[in-house]
Amino acid sequence: MKNNTICAISTAQGEGGIGVIRVSGKDSIDICSRLFTSVTGKKLTEMKGYTAAFGYVSYNGEKLDEVIATVFREPHSYTGENVVELSCHGGIFITREVLRAVIEAGAAPAEAGEFTKRAFLNGKLDLTEAEAVIDIISAKSKTAARAAISAKDGALWRRIDSIKIRLVNTAAHLSAWVDYPEEDIEEITAEGLNNTFKECMFDLNNLLDTYDMGRTIKEGLDTVIAGKPNTGKSTLMNLLSGRERSIVTDIPGTTRDVIEETVNVGNVVLRLSDTAGLRETDDTVERIGVDIAKNRVLSCGLVMAVFDSGRELDDDDKRLIEIIKYAPVIAVINKTDLESKLDEKYIADNIENTVRISAKNGDGVEELIKLIEKIAGTENFNPSEGILANERQRNAVLNAKNSLNEAIEALNLGMTYDAVTVTLEEAIENILELTGERVSDVVVDKVFHNFCVGK
Ligand code: GDP
Repeated sequence: MKNNTICAISTAQGEGGIGVIRVSGKDSIDICSRLFTSVTGKKLTEMKGYTAAFGYVSYNGEKLDEVIATVFREPHSYTGENVVELSCHGGIFITREVLRAVIEAGAAPAEAGEFTKRAFLNGKLDLTEAEAVIDIISAKSKTAARAAISAKDGALWRRIDSIKIRLVNTAAHLSAWVDYPEEDIEEITAEGLNNTFKECMFDLNNLLDTYDMGRTIKEGLDTVIAGKPNTGKSTLMNLLSGRERSIVTDIPGTTRDVIEETVNVGNVVLRLSDTAGLRETDDTVERIGVDIAKNRVLSCGLVMAVFDSGRELDDDDKRLIEIIKYAPVIAVINKTDLESKLDEKYIADNIENTVRISAKNGDGVEELIKLIEKIAGTENFNPSEGILANERQRNAVLNAKNSLNEAIEALNLGMTYDAVTVTLEEAIENILELTGERVSDVVVDKVFHNFCVGK
């Protein structure tokens, strides 16, 4: 299987400037040399790694397209194998024809993520770095892209590796101490072990704490804009998203449905929904909207509650404050360009994060963005610190934590060092699973299944 030469179209399926057919495996250079003729007459098989040649691909005597062939020689390639990349014109038909010719010449069609899987199996990437590749491709914001690129550079791996080294050293020391009592091995104390375990536990907990932020960065923060009609919710949403989307009118109660939209605000992606105002109403259609709004407010990651500075605080506003008080909320006092009639003190007394803006002219928006970043936890986010990026990684850390907890308990109960070693080794196994150093084929297949063909 590993020696098969595989091929796929690595660029997006569609019309574009260039389309790249990637071929990887022991025979990739031979296979491509059967199809490629360079203008200089130089053969692909004579070319060094990291060199390119201009020419054309032909099959059965027919010229398919002009291409630039780039040669990579193992182990200096993405997959660690011999790789040829044929860059042809980016047409759907042309790329498929060149791909078909490569298959006819002896390569097998690649499965989803197979190039990256080979990079992993050949030791070019650990599993967290391979997973980062998919996150780079699917990143929808600068922060998500930076986090994924750092993970690809090994930011998460380094964090995990430092825990692993300490646990492995301790396990080795314990085994040596238990198995070779007559040797002159540094004494192991329960206190020393306890300290090491607690330090690793601390680091594992810190790592787990990054998961929620990682999700927010990747998937966006589920955000509701709430407030009674006509406070300026649609105007605010339009301002944040930079285009007209929800219906803005002077008639109270026009925003009936939950309109969802994804926008980049500061370093956070917000999944915004502009909801019906949370006021009691007799209108059935609007009532449905109101109910949806209430439910959403109670389950979302951020509520922006909008109040109208030009009107006095009324029962609807107070009811809203009661509903959202315990949610992650920013009170947005809007229309500050008008003379203030609002009891802003009442709002500030009930809601910690309050900001004054004018959605009409943009005043105060920078401050609002800072508050959003604060609630999202991305305010001081440093992508190079390494964060947990998916459920698989989180589970492995949770399992490592559980095993380490058992080791600490065994130690506290005064059990033998043998018993401590067993649970410690389990913790190490969990960590090796996280980095992919010891992981089942099923898990590996599952990870790469999420990739696209050609990556
Ligand atoms: P919604 O019902 O809460 O979605 O409110 P809209 O966004 O439809 O706005 C209601 C009215 O308030 C519209 O006429 C807006 O132009 C106006 N409005 C929104 N924001 C401001 C603001 O900051 N200042 C002023 N003066 N008017 C605003």
